[in-house]
Amino acid sequence: MTNHGGHSHTHDAPRPVKQEQRAATESIDELAPGVLRTQLPIDIPGLGHVNMYVLEDERGVAVVDPGLANKQSYTAIQKRLREIGVPLKRVHTVIVTHSHPDHFGGAEWIQSHSGAEIVTSRHFRVFWDPTEPPDVDVEDVPDLPPYRRPWEPTPWGGPGMNVPWRRRARMKVAQRFPKLLHLPRPTIRLDDAERYTFARREWVAVHTPGHTADHLCLFDPEAGLMLCGDHVLPTITPHISGLVRRRDPLQLFFDSLDKVAVFGSDVTLALPAHGDPFADLAGRANDIKVHHEGRLQRLRDAAAELDRPATVMEMSRFLFSPRAQGGMADSETYAHLEHLRVAGEFERRDAEGRYEYVRLV
Ligand SMILES: [Zn+2]
Ligand SMILES: [Zn+2]
Repeated sequence: MTNHGGHSHTHDAPRPVKQEQRAATESIDELAPGVLRTQLPIDIPGLGHVNMYVLEDERGVAVVDPGLANKQSYTAIQKRLREIGVPLKRVHTVIVTHSHPDHFGGAEWIQSHSGAEIVTSRHFRVFWDPTEPPDVDVEDVPDLPPYRRPWEPTPWGGPGMNVPWRRRARMKVAQRFPKLLHLPRPTIRLDDAERYTFARREWVAVHTPGHTADHLCLFDPEAGLMLCGDHVLPTITPHISGLVRRRDPLQLFFDSLDKVAVFGSDVTLALPAHGDPFADLAGRANDIKVHHEGRLQRLRDAAAELDRPATVMEMSRFLFSPRAQGGMADSETYAHLEHLRVAGEFERRDAEGRYEYVRLV
């Protein structure tokens, strides 16, 4: 929901349907021995399915990113497992790549049926969950107020996220009664570079902050597989939110793209959370960097053209189409502007509760 849906697109309509937008199919594809790709339906703008990878071993299976917390998704999970021939109670592990609802939604439900371990990164946090302890590693940004409710005005003085009222009501209730929202409670939190064995292979945790601060990729050195969640997607770029308590979220994302690119040809198949598995992880990671560098340049050009301080909302029009405007577009624009500010190219001013940016060089 909210923080997730807007995987941004560079080009405007008309355009062909992207892989990530295709509706979930019922097919089950074996990608490597004991590594299966299944798809679950999700209802999020710009995304038609989430890949639930199923990893088999003698104890049963581990599943990765088991979709949203709703009946339609639970039914699909059961159907896929039945097809594979594994009852729900033999799911011994649920791996959640990051704290977005289309990835963690089914985790608690599966755990309630099978007692599965829930594996996440050390930093896993659902940011609006009031029971979550603060992230110990947070690089605290003193001028960024804690931000709990996505529909509230943003730190840069723009409107909040466009959360439909039903969802908003659910989140309000959840903030008072968090149990009702079926948020996962991780039982195993992996540190970066920590090794963990499931599905007959040893996986290496690769902490990849950027899309979220808690994003986790998992690398299987033996078969050359990389579970890469939303960090690197085949044809769209993941949303980079400015609403994280980190000084420069875009730089974090760049560093995390470099981090997976370093694996180079050791990765023979990247397994994204949306869209089809693909071979050239390093190449794709680089393409995504180039995409964002193009956007940074657009902001430099826009600022030169305007030749006056401009708000995040004004600058957002230079990056996103009219129909994409809103809190999410602003949030990503803000992340880009902050990157330029930290680099010393822009200055930020507070103009009566609204941030304004002006180009310095
Ligand atoms: Zn995501
Ligand atoms: Zn996603």
